Amino acid sequence: MTVTSTKNVVSSHPCKPETRAKIRAALRGRSTGPRSEETKAKIRATKLGHSRPDVAGARNHWWSPTGRCVTSRGRIHVRIRSNVWRAESRVIMEQALGRRLTSSELVHHINENPLDNRIENLLLVTRPEHNQIHARVRRGEQS
Ligand SMILES: [Zn+2]
Repeated sequence: MTVTSTKNVVSSHPCKPETRAKIRAALRGRSTGPRSEETKAKIRATKLGHSRPDVAGARNHWWSPTGRCVTSRGRIHVRIRSNVWRAESRVIMEQALGRRLTSSELVHHINENPLDNRIENLLLVTRPEHNQIHARVRRGEQS
């Protein structure tokens, strides 16, 4: 696949407007239960941040965000260059560490809310550690 313009990139990205309805429909079926008031408040706070990409970007020297959206998997992606989208959680973790993440490093959302990319909600883990965390969560234990 060759991408020649920003317009093409945007239209090929899962966040393109015409897929938003599909994404919403997909997300509806994924909920494992009613959200707590706490989670709802966090989501609201995250959505407020959504309208201020200028503020989020001003703190990060690796990217000047030209786009920000929620993917079909419920993760926030930011556009760091015309044709490069990255998970915001990874960008924020890299900013905190002062280095790029390696391919074996993952960023886990401590409260399981992938929309909550506050640094205190992010945990740098390896793939096996990440599997362990989610296995524990599935068994209903405290993480
Ligand atoms: Zn995780």
